[in-house]
Amino acid sequence: MMTQLRMKVWVEIVGADDVPQHREIAIVERIVDGARLGDFGLSLEEGKVIQRRLQEEFTQIQVDQAGQQDRKCPECNRLRGVHDYQFRTVHSLFGICRLRVPRFRSCACGKAARSDTGSIGTLLLGRATPELQRVQAELGSRLSFREAARVLDLFVPASRPHNHRTVVNRLAKVADQIEKWDAASPYRISRADVAPISIFIDGAYIRAVPGYQSRHFEIAMGRVVSPGRPPRQFAAAPNVTIGKHDVVRAAMRAQGWLPGRDVTVFSDGDVGLQGIVLSATRQPVTHILDWFHLSMRLRHIEQVWEGLRHVEDLNIYLRDVAVDVPRLRYLLWSGYVREATRAVKNMLYQLEQHPRLRDASHKLKRLHVLICNLQTYLVQNATSIVDYCQRYWSGQPISSSPAESAANSLVNARMNKKRQMRWSPAGAHRVLQVRAAVADGRLKQAKFALAA
Ligand SMILES: [Zn+2]
Repeated sequence: MMTQLRMKVWVEIVGADDVPQHREIAIVERIVDGARLGDFGLSLEEGKVIQRRLQEEFTQIQVDQAGQQDRKCPECNRLRGVHDYQFRTVHSLFGICRLRVPRFRSCACGKAARSDTGSIGTLLLGRATPELQRVQAELGSRLSFREAARVLDLFVPASRPHNHRTVVNRLAKVADQIEKWDAASPYRISRADVAPISIFIDGAYIRAVPGYQSRHFEIAMGRVVSPGRPPRQFAAAPNVTIGKHDVVRAAMRAQGWLPGRDVTVFSDGDVGLQGIVLSATRQPVTHILDWFHLSMRLRHIEQVWEGLRHVEDLNIYLRDVAVDVPRLRYLLWSGYVREATRAVKNMLYQLEQHPRLRDASHKLKRLHVLICNLQTYLVQNATSIVDYCQRYWSGQPISSSPAESAANSLVNARMNKKRQMRWSPAGAHRVLQVRAAVADGRLKQAKFALAA
């Protein structure tokens, strides 16, 4: 005979009457001799059964206990008789609970209504627990809706498989609640709130669903940083019920901003993005060209020059270019726009004298194009280029790389063009709201109403 191990899982539940009740949850059996590694510990399936059984017992006890309270007539406190039982189905993270809810007879005093299920019956009319909604929304914001449903099926006990449509709907509900929650949250002003608030804003294009007015649409996203507070992310799609500037304004408000307080905006110089912030603040703002974007342009020039500078005849003809390419970075880092613009002009002049510039395949042509683009960029953003060096060493922000990282976490992981996904603005907007809330840790703090 084989040696067997049996584990019986029981729970003891003590309600308001102080009488312990015992319930059997599960029995787990194992062979002792010749056991394999796969027999070790609880399996995923066993774990799911135990979780689901615990949830069933616990939630029914909760309903029974609440029913005991509800039995008392709200008018005269007499106990009412139970007329019959109704069932309520509640979806929870640990399974679908089918719960027996009592309906009460009318009271002898004649004031309490007949067939009343009491407060617990009303509460359970909600179809899903907030925790389940939150987990579904978070997974739906991180993965595709189908993948999110599959992951839930894998780990979460459920009598019915999770469906990607449910994930879509729950995410929509949570996203709408996040926005309402934002609108309803009170101002919290602290002593640090007189310092300027910084907004890092960036844009990205995502593919639109067929039938939308254009093939791509632009979303705006970024962070609002206020001293003494954790940064707050925001993201918005066009043509949804609220404007992009409303989203930015809500994020600023949540960071303690009030009209009149100074605002510094960091962007890549895009006029549209600056316009969003202006509509949000309805006041003049200080715009700073983001060092990250400027630096990227310089790096491209430096790289092309690096591939060219060892060619001997170039060094003779392009002496100024050889000097100015490394110098450009230092000039702009210290905010010397006029000197940088002059250097760019000299470089272009020298490049244009070079006979091989006509050669379209030559790297020289590429260098010329990059420097030309930089020239335009410097002209367009001359007033937004500051002494980054001085700001940097005094601990002030110089770059919207926080916005870049917001873009990465918000957009690239979920909506990247490589994924071939197509979005409606409303659908994208909702996913973005949840992702931003997840990134900030706001979703965990949020208290969602148990609404259907
Ligand atoms: Zn009564």
